[in-house]
Amino acid sequence: MKVNITEYLRIELDTERWECRRCDRELGAARENYKRGLLVYDRDPREIHPPLLDSRLYSRTYSPDPAWCRILEYYCPSCGTMIEVEYLPPGHPPLHDIELDIDDLKARWKKGAAAEPERQSGSELPVRKLAPAHRHRG
Ligand SMILES: [Zn+2]
Repeated sequence: MKVNITEYLRIELDTERWECRRCDRELGAARENYKRGLLVYDRDPREIHPPLLDSRLYSRTYSPDPAWCRILEYYCPSCGTMIEVEYLPPGHPPLHDIELDIDDLKARWKKGAAAEPERQSGSELPVRKLAPAHRHRG
């Protein structure tokens, strides 16, 4: 049973492995951080956010200081799809941002409950309409 987790990640519950949704490559144990199975590009943040002010005139240029901030990009080693990006202090280990209860997930799928989120009796889930995207003027 394959369960979609994010736009590019899913878990094969039978083998308990992360998989790339784009190319089906197996990425590692579902009980561990999926980033272990990905390629990492440690970016200098100045490449992504170049200075907006002249650094000869101003000490703060709206560009992140690489001594304080790194941008880690994670890619599927098979198809090259960018799966995640995170901003971290240099030397900080990758965040373990998705940690699922695999046993509970399996139990829910056996019952068929995971297909439809559980609703509390007597109350509907709140639905919020999104405003149109803000547009810059001039
Ligand atoms: Zn892939």
